[in-house]
Amino acid sequence: MKGLLRKMSVFQNPIEPPHIVKGWIDNKQNNGSGIEIPIFYPGTGKQVSVLIEDSEEDVNKAVLSARKTFEKSSWRRLSVEKRIEILESCRKLILDNIEELARLECLGTGLILREIKGFHIHRAAYNFRFFAQYISQAHGERYDNTEGYITLVNREPAGVVGLIAPWNAPLALATMKIASAIAFGNCAILKPSEQTPFSLIKLASLLQDVLPEGVLNLVNGRGPITGSSLVSHPGVDRISFTGGTVTGRKVMMDAGKQLTPCTMELGGKSANIIFASADYQRAIDGALIGIFSNNGQQCLAGSRILIEEKIFDQFVEEFVERTKKIVVGDPLNDETEIGPIASKQHMERILSFVEKAEEDGDKLLVGGKRHSEENNGYFIEPTAVLAKSNNSRTCQEEIFGPFASFISFSSEEEAINIANDTEYGLVSYIWSDHLPTIMRISEEMRSGVVWVNTPMMRELRAPFGGYHNSGVGREGGYSCEQFYTEEKTISIPKAPLNLKKFGK
Ligand code: NAD
Repeated sequence: MKGLLRKMSVFQNPIEPPHIVKGWIDNKQNNGSGIEIPIFYPGTGKQVSVLIEDSEEDVNKAVLSARKTFEKSSWRRLSVEKRIEILESCRKLILDNIEELARLECLGTGLILREIKGFHIHRAAYNFRFFAQYISQAHGERYDNTEGYITLVNREPAGVVGLIAPWNAPLALATMKIASAIAFGNCAILKPSEQTPFSLIKLASLLQDVLPEGVLNLVNGRGPITGSSLVSHPGVDRISFTGGTVTGRKVMMDAGKQLTPCTMELGGKSANIIFASADYQRAIDGALIGIFSNNGQQCLAGSRILIEEKIFDQFVEEFVERTKKIVVGDPLNDETEIGPIASKQHMERILSFVEKAEEDGDKLLVGGKRHSEENNGYFIEPTAVLAKSNNSRTCQEEIFGPFASFISFSSEEEAINIANDTEYGLVSYIWSDHLPTIMRISEEMRSGVVWVNTPMMRELRAPFGGYHNSGVGREGGYSCEQFYTEEKTISIPKAPLNLKKFGK
């Protein structure tokens, strides 16, 4: 495969790894009391650091610290001007530390350094600016429709919020949660993925300079230990979770015991529907971007590529030719298009779908193997299969890697049926220049987001989230305001009431 790895045995770490990683509580590093967990750099497969897990006791300390700040300090009542100033300072701290944050993100995730610097970091910084701008316009409600009364609806911060992040894009995803939680006056406890804590720990340490003590605490560790202690803690008022659907179910069950409201940003198996009426070259570019960006590890990947019969053979052939030329390799190299998979276990899981595809009668079109040569990094060939039908496991299960499945369709009706025949419902992509087709298909899609003639386009003002097993609730300007605040209704009579007099 022409575009794939050359000799890779000399890959360097993106940055001198921190010897040991710990959480933050009360603006101080916390010496966690749990076990040590090794962390590996996906580019070499070598252990680079050790994380100290935070136990239930540490989580309790983090929650008490956040609760104290929320209840006893002026944080939740800060003026909007002051809060905007703080959010803007957070943004500036990120932009002033692009290089280090980006290299730490690369060290944890194996994402391509060029893309982290070009997109992820700017998105992380923008999340703070976006919520600063949002709160400058936020307002309550007032009703005087009922004669003699005025009723006000205030929004107050929800309290202490637990934020649980995945490993695939830690900075971009966790900052959406942090920025929105603090913009609305909450105190937050962040739990990064135990596989990719570096960049978020650095971010938390930077933000300690501008955030009062206890506003952002960070705990580390495995989901069933640290994550579960956070979710089950009675002192936590909200849980915002991004991760897999199976984990999401457990989190909701734990949170349900305390009736803690949750938002769930979960998995996807999104259909990328390409009509013969599409701009052909753009649709090919879009399909490649849709499945291979972010090393293929994205919830919104267009992983089921549905193509209208008339253009099917030609489209698949060109897609496969382009895939063969994709440069897989060192995430520090500017030419690289796909870097390593984030962990050995995940790489093996992705590759297991090659066997599943064979068992289900799919045809392997390209890729399908580990690409390691002398390097132990977690590299795999970008892969595509021709699915026997939409029932194949490659079409029904989230693979979460650079792995596409092709299916053909011959009518709009068939495209709709195939696209909606999934337990997920995060995103649908439509490629067509025919407006009635675009309108009809958009309306029929059972997904929270529809992108037409474009790869990922995240409008932060609009809700983002999924139908079915892709999630519960939404993230976005207004959606976050609703989630991170409590509504309080205050009714006042305009004049003294003439009250009924019991017992008189
Ligand atoms: P994961 O579910 O394994 O872990 C996510 C986080 O949850 C981690 O921090 C983990 O430690 C924690 N966790 C695990 N068990 C827990 C428990 N019992 N209680 C509390 N916390 C627990 O997911 P992942 O493998 O890190 O991420 C990949 C998944 O995330 C994919 O399914 C992907 O689709 C999904 N994802 C969704 C979105 C979205 O916006 N919808 C975005 C990115 C990733």
